[in-house]
Amino acid sequence: MDYQGILNEIKVNVDCTKLPGEVASYIPELAKISPDKFGMHLYSVIGEEFCFGESQERFSIQSISKVLSLSLALLYEGENVWKRVGVEPSGDPFNSLVQLEYENGIPRNPLINSGALVICDILVSHLENPKAEYLQFVRKIAQNDQIDFDEKVAESEKAEGHHNRAMINLIKAYGNIKNDVEEVLDFYFYTCSVQMSCKELARTFVLYANHGCLIETGEQILSVKRTKRINALMQTCGFYDEAGEFSFRVGLPGKSGVGGGIVAVYPNMYSVAVWSPKLNEKGNSTAGMLALELLTNITGSSIF
Ligand code: GLU
Repeated sequence: MDYQGILNEIKVNVDCTKLPGEVASYIPELAKISPDKFGMHLYSVIGEEFCFGESQERFSIQSISKVLSLSLALLYEGENVWKRVGVEPSGDPFNSLVQLEYENGIPRNPLINSGALVICDILVSHLENPKAEYLQFVRKIAQNDQIDFDEKVAESEKAEGHHNRAMINLIKAYGNIKNDVEEVLDFYFYTCSVQMSCKELARTFVLYANHGCLIETGEQILSVKRTKRINALMQTCGFYDEAGEFSFRVGLPGKSGVGGGIVAVYPNMYSVAVWSPKLNEKGNSTAGMLALELLTNITGSSIF
Protein backbone atom coordinates (compact mmCIF):
# COMPACT_ATOMS: atom_id res chain seq x y z
CA MET A 1 0.00 0.00 0.00
CA ASP A 2 1.36 3.44 -0.91
CA TYR A 3 0.65 5.06 2.47
CA GLN A 4 2.83 8.09 1.75
CA GLY A 5 0.90 8.77 -1.45
CA ILE A 6 -2.38 8.41 0.45
CA LEU A 7 -1.23 10.77 3.21
CA ASN A 8 -0.18 13.32 0.56
CA GLU A 9 -3.66 13.07 -0.94
CA ILE A 10 -5.25 13.62 2.48
CA LYS A 11 -3.08 16.69 3.05
CA VAL A 12 -4.23 18.19 -0.25
CA ASN A 13 -7.89 17.44 0.46
CA VAL A 14 -8.17 18.53 4.09
CA ASP A 15 -7.76 22.28 4.53
CA CYS A 16 -8.00 22.70 8.29
CA THR A 17 -8.00 26.50 7.97
CA LYS A 18 -11.38 26.32 6.22
CA LEU A 19 -12.99 23.72 8.47
CA PRO A 20 -15.21 24.77 11.39
CA GLY A 21 -14.33 24.27 15.02
CA GLU A 22 -12.89 25.95 18.09
CA VAL A 23 -9.67 25.37 20.00
CA ALA A 24 -10.44 24.15 23.55
CA SER A 25 -10.30 27.14 25.87
CA TYR A 26 -11.57 25.78 29.19
CA ILE A 27 -7.96 24.86 29.94
CA PRO A 28 -6.38 28.33 29.54
CA GLU A 29 -3.00 26.99 28.46
CA LEU A 30 -4.57 25.06 25.53
CA ALA A 31 -6.27 28.22 24.21
CA LYS A 32 -2.82 29.56 23.26
CA ILE A 33 -2.28 26.94 20.52
CA SER A 34 -2.55 28.03 16.88
CA PRO A 35 -5.78 26.63 15.36
CA ASP A 36 -4.04 25.92 12.04
CA LYS A 37 -1.58 23.26 13.19
CA PHE A 38 -2.02 20.07 11.22
CA GLY A 39 0.03 16.90 11.13
CA MET A 40 -0.41 13.18 10.62
CA HIS A 41 1.84 10.19 11.18
CA LEU A 42 1.27 6.53 10.40
CA TYR A 43 3.42 3.82 11.95
CA SER A 44 3.13 0.28 10.63
CA VAL A 45 3.62 -2.83 12.75
CA ILE A 46 6.77 -3.54 10.76
CA GLY A 47 8.16 -0.15 11.70
CA GLU A 48 7.57 1.82 8.49
CA GLU A 49 6.64 5.48 8.95
CA PHE A 50 4.72 7.91 6.78
CA CYS A 51 3.77 11.49 7.62
CA PHE A 52 2.93 15.03 6.62
CA GLY A 53 2.76 18.49 8.18
CA GLU A 54 3.52 19.24 11.81
CA SER A 55 3.77 15.56 12.70
CA GLN A 56 6.83 16.08 14.87
CA GLU A 57 5.54 18.98 16.94
CA ARG A 58 4.42 18.08 20.43
CA PHE A 59 0.95 18.84 21.74
CA SER A 60 -1.08 17.99 24.82
CA ILE A 61 -2.47 14.47 24.40
CA GLN A 62 -5.16 15.08 27.06
CA SER A 63 -7.75 12.28 27.10
CA ILE A 64 -5.68 10.02 24.87
CA SER A 65 -3.71 9.42 28.07
CA LYS A 66 -6.76 7.61 29.49
CA VAL A 67 -5.90 4.57 27.36
CA LEU A 68 -2.41 4.50 28.83
CA SER A 69 -3.67 4.92 32.41
CA LEU A 70 -6.15 2.08 31.90
CA SER A 71 -3.40 -0.16 30.51
CA LEU A 72 -1.21 0.44 33.55
CA ALA A 73 -4.10 -0.04 35.99
CA LEU A 74 -4.91 -3.40 34.38
CA LEU A 75 -1.34 -4.51 34.99
CA TYR A 76 -1.73 -3.83 38.71
CA GLU A 77 -5.36 -4.57 39.43
CA GLY A 78 -6.34 -7.02 36.68
CA GLU A 79 -10.01 -7.79 36.24
CA ASN A 80 -10.90 -6.11 39.55
CA VAL A 81 -10.83 -2.83 37.63
CA TRP A 82 -14.24 -3.76 36.22
CA LYS A 83 -15.81 -3.81 39.66
CA ARG A 84 -15.25 -0.06 39.87
CA VAL A 85 -15.80 1.09 36.30
CA GLY A 86 -18.05 -0.18 33.49
CA VAL A 87 -17.48 -0.96 29.82
CA GLU A 88 -20.48 0.71 28.19
CA PRO A 89 -20.49 3.81 26.00
CA SER A 90 -21.81 6.83 27.86
CA GLY A 91 -23.65 8.70 25.13
CA ASP A 92 -22.93 11.79 27.22
CA PRO A 93 -20.27 14.51 27.09
CA PHE A 94 -16.86 13.52 28.47
CA ASN A 95 -17.37 15.37 31.73
CA SER A 96 -21.03 14.63 32.45
CA LEU A 97 -22.04 14.37 36.09
CA VAL A 98 -25.61 13.27 35.44
CA GLN A 99 -25.03 9.60 34.72
CA LEU A 100 -22.84 9.20 37.78
CA GLU A 101 -25.68 10.04 40.09
CA TYR A 102 -28.06 7.62 38.40
CA GLU A 103 -25.46 4.88 38.50
CA ASN A 104 -24.27 5.31 42.07
CA GLY A 105 -20.77 6.56 41.37
CA ILE A 106 -19.75 3.72 39.03
CA PRO A 107 -18.52 5.45 35.84
CA ARG A 108 -19.76 4.05 32.54
CA ASN A 109 -16.30 3.38 31.14
CA PRO A 110 -12.61 4.22 31.77
CA LEU A 111 -12.27 6.57 28.79
CA ILE A 112 -14.53 9.35 30.09
CA ASN A 113 -13.37 11.69 32.84
CA SER A 114 -15.23 10.01 35.70
CA GLY A 115 -13.85 6.59 34.72
CA ALA A 116 -10.35 7.93 34.29
CA LEU A 117 -10.52 9.51 37.74
CA VAL A 118 -11.34 6.09 39.23
CA ILE A 119 -8.48 4.55 37.21
CA CYS A 120 -6.15 7.25 38.58
CA ASP A 121 -7.36 6.43 42.09
CA ILE A 122 -6.47 2.77 41.50
CA LEU A 123 -3.00 3.82 40.33
CA VAL A 124 -2.49 6.13 43.31
CA SER A 125 -3.29 3.14 45.56
CA HIS A 126 -0.67 0.98 43.85
CA LEU A 127 2.16 3.31 42.92
CA GLU A 128 4.63 4.73 45.38
CA ASN A 129 5.39 7.70 43.17
CA PRO A 130 2.46 7.79 40.71
CA LYS A 131 3.70 10.55 38.38
CA ALA A 132 7.21 9.15 38.01
CA GLU A 133 6.03 5.56 37.58
CA TYR A 134 3.33 6.53 35.11
CA LEU A 135 5.90 8.41 33.03
CA GLN A 136 8.24 5.44 33.20
CA PHE A 137 5.48 3.19 31.80
CA VAL A 138 4.60 5.63 29.00
CA ARG A 139 8.27 6.08 28.10
CA LYS A 140 8.67 2.33 27.92
CA ILE A 141 5.82 1.72 25.49
CA ALA A 142 6.76 4.85 23.55
CA GLN A 143 10.36 3.57 23.53
CA ASN A 144 11.30 7.18 24.17
CA ASP A 145 12.85 8.67 27.33
CA GLN A 146 12.08 12.21 26.23
CA ILE A 147 8.31 11.93 26.77
CA ASP A 148 7.26 14.24 29.59
CA PHE A 149 4.43 16.10 31.30
CA ASP A 150 3.73 19.71 30.44
CA GLU A 151 3.57 21.23 33.92
CA LYS A 152 2.11 24.49 32.66
CA VAL A 153 -0.86 22.64 31.15
CA ALA A 154 -1.32 20.49 34.25
CA GLU A 155 -1.22 23.50 36.60
CA SER A 156 -3.47 25.51 34.29
CA GLU A 157 -6.08 22.76 34.37
CA LYS A 158 -5.70 22.31 38.10
CA ALA A 159 -6.46 25.99 38.68
CA GLU A 160 -9.64 25.80 36.58
CA GLY A 161 -10.67 22.17 37.02
CA HIS A 162 -13.89 22.80 38.96
CA HIS A 163 -15.93 20.34 36.93
CA ASN A 164 -13.52 17.46 37.49
CA ARG A 165 -13.30 18.47 41.14
CA ALA A 166 -17.09 18.25 41.45
CA MET A 167 -17.06 14.90 39.70
CA ILE A 168 -14.41 13.29 41.87
CA ASN A 169 -16.14 14.50 45.02
CA LEU A 170 -19.39 12.96 43.85
CA ILE A 171 -17.67 9.62 43.15
CA LYS A 172 -15.95 9.84 46.55
CA ALA A 173 -19.36 10.33 48.16
CA TYR A 174 -20.40 7.00 46.63
CA GLY A 175 -17.25 5.36 48.04
CA ASN A 176 -15.58 4.71 44.68
CA ILE A 177 -12.52 6.93 45.32
CA LYS A 178 -10.29 5.54 48.06
CA ASN A 179 -7.55 8.18 48.22
CA ASP A 180 -7.45 11.89 48.91
CA VAL A 181 -9.37 13.65 46.12
CA GLU A 182 -6.75 16.39 45.62
CA GLU A 183 -3.96 13.82 45.30
CA VAL A 184 -5.92 11.85 42.67
CA LEU A 185 -6.94 15.00 40.79
CA ASP A 186 -3.37 16.26 40.70
CA PHE A 187 -2.21 12.94 39.26
CA TYR A 188 -5.08 12.92 36.73
CA PHE A 189 -4.24 16.44 35.48
CA TYR A 190 -0.60 15.44 35.03
CA THR A 191 -1.50 12.30 33.07
CA CYS A 192 -3.60 14.47 30.71
CA SER A 193 -0.75 16.93 30.27
CA VAL A 194 1.63 14.42 28.66
CA GLN A 195 3.02 15.93 25.48
CA MET A 196 3.64 13.92 22.34
CA SER A 197 3.94 14.57 18.64
CA CYS A 198 1.88 12.58 16.12
CA LYS A 199 5.03 10.59 15.42
CA GLU A 200 5.46 9.74 19.12
CA LEU A 201 1.78 9.00 19.59
CA ALA A 202 1.57 6.68 16.61
CA ARG A 203 4.78 5.03 17.81
CA THR A 204 3.29 4.51 21.28
CA PHE A 205 -0.02 3.10 20.05
CA VAL A 206 1.50 0.64 17.63
CA LEU A 207 1.54 -1.58 20.73
CA TYR A 208 -2.25 -1.84 20.47
CA ALA A 209 -2.03 -2.72 16.77
CA ASN A 210 0.54 -5.38 17.62
CA HIS A 211 -1.43 -7.44 20.18
CA GLY A 212 0.28 -5.80 23.14
CA CYS A 213 3.87 -6.54 22.02
CA LEU A 214 6.60 -3.94 21.55
CA ILE A 215 7.52 -4.09 17.90
CA GLU A 216 11.29 -3.84 18.41
CA THR A 217 11.83 -6.40 21.13
CA GLY A 218 8.66 -8.49 20.95
CA GLU A 219 8.21 -7.97 24.70
CA GLN A 220 4.60 -8.65 25.66
CA ILE A 221 3.55 -5.57 27.65
CA LEU A 222 -0.20 -6.31 27.60
CA SER A 223 -1.75 -9.71 27.05
CA VAL A 224 -3.51 -10.38 23.75
CA LYS A 225 -6.84 -10.54 25.58
CA ARG A 226 -6.32 -7.22 27.35
CA THR A 227 -5.22 -5.53 24.17
CA LYS A 228 -8.37 -6.78 22.47
CA ARG A 229 -10.47 -5.36 25.28
CA ILE A 230 -8.71 -2.00 25.29
CA ASN A 231 -9.20 -1.71 21.52
CA ALA A 232 -12.87 -2.63 21.97
CA LEU A 233 -13.25 0.16 24.53
CA MET A 234 -11.58 2.64 22.17
CA GLN A 235 -14.02 1.56 19.47
CA THR A 236 -17.13 1.99 21.60
CA CYS A 237 -16.11 4.73 24.04
CA GLY A 238 -13.15 6.64 22.57
CA PHE A 239 -14.95 9.69 21.20
CA TYR A 240 -17.20 11.05 23.95
CA ASP A 241 -20.75 10.92 22.62
CA GLU A 242 -19.51 10.70 19.04
CA ALA A 243 -18.12 7.16 19.18
CA GLY A 244 -20.86 5.94 16.84
CA GLU A 245 -20.06 8.67 14.33
CA PHE A 246 -16.35 7.85 14.43
CA SER A 247 -17.05 4.13 13.92
CA PHE A 248 -19.42 4.97 11.10
CA ARG A 249 -17.07 7.32 9.28
CA VAL A 250 -13.64 5.86 10.09
CA GLY A 251 -14.16 2.28 11.23
CA LEU A 252 -11.14 1.94 13.53
CA PRO A 253 -10.71 1.89 17.31
CA GLY A 254 -9.31 5.19 18.50
CA LYS A 255 -9.17 7.89 21.13
CA SER A 256 -9.36 11.64 20.90
CA GLY A 257 -8.30 14.41 23.24
CA VAL A 258 -9.28 18.05 23.64
CA GLY A 259 -5.76 19.05 22.60
CA GLY A 260 -6.92 18.18 19.06
CA GLY A 261 -5.15 14.86 18.79
CA ILE A 262 -6.70 11.59 17.63
CA VAL A 263 -4.97 8.25 17.55
CA ALA A 264 -6.46 5.23 15.79
CA VAL A 265 -5.37 1.62 15.57
CA TYR A 266 -5.72 -0.94 12.82
CA PRO A 267 -4.87 -4.31 14.43
CA ASN A 268 -2.08 -6.19 12.59
CA MET A 269 -1.51 -3.19 10.31
CA TYR A 270 -0.75 0.23 11.79
CA SER A 271 -1.43 2.97 14.27
CA VAL A 272 -2.02 6.50 13.05
CA ALA A 273 -2.09 9.84 14.84
CA VAL A 274 -3.43 13.14 13.59
CA TRP A 275 -3.40 16.59 15.19
CA SER A 276 -5.47 19.64 14.41
CA PRO A 277 -6.61 21.72 17.43
CA LYS A 278 -9.98 22.95 16.18
CA LEU A 279 -12.68 20.81 17.82
CA ASN A 280 -16.27 20.20 16.77
CA GLU A 281 -19.13 20.67 19.22
CA LYS A 282 -18.61 17.13 20.56
CA GLY A 283 -14.96 17.87 21.39
CA ASN A 284 -13.28 15.91 18.57
CA SER A 285 -10.82 17.41 16.07
CA THR A 286 -12.73 18.35 12.91
CA ALA A 287 -9.82 17.95 10.52
CA GLY A 288 -8.58 14.90 12.40
CA MET A 289 -11.85 13.03 11.90
CA LEU A 290 -11.95 13.96 8.24
CA ALA A 291 -8.33 12.93 7.66
CA LEU A 292 -8.93 9.51 9.22
CA GLU A 293 -12.15 9.05 7.30
CA LEU A 294 -10.24 9.70 4.08
CA LEU A 295 -7.51 7.28 5.14
CA THR A 296 -9.89 4.34 5.50
CA ASN A 297 -11.92 5.38 2.45
CA ILE A 298 -8.90 5.72 0.16
CA THR A 299 -7.22 2.53 1.39
CA GLY A 300 -10.60 0.81 1.17
CA SER A 301 -9.95 -0.97 4.41
CA SER A 302 -11.01 -0.66 8.01
CA ILE A 303 -11.78 -3.24 10.71
CA PHE A 304 -15.25 -3.50 9.21
N1 GLU B 1 -7.92 17.03 30.97
C1 GLU B 1 -9.15 17.14 30.26
C2 GLU B 1 -10.32 17.22 31.20
O1 GLU B 1 -10.37 16.53 32.15
C3 GLU B 1 -9.25 15.99 29.32
C4 GLU B 1 -10.44 16.11 28.45
C5 GLU B 1 -10.31 15.39 27.13
O2 GLU B 1 -9.30 15.43 26.44
O3 GLU B 1 -11.33 14.77 26.80
O4 GLU B 1 -11.22 17.97 31.03
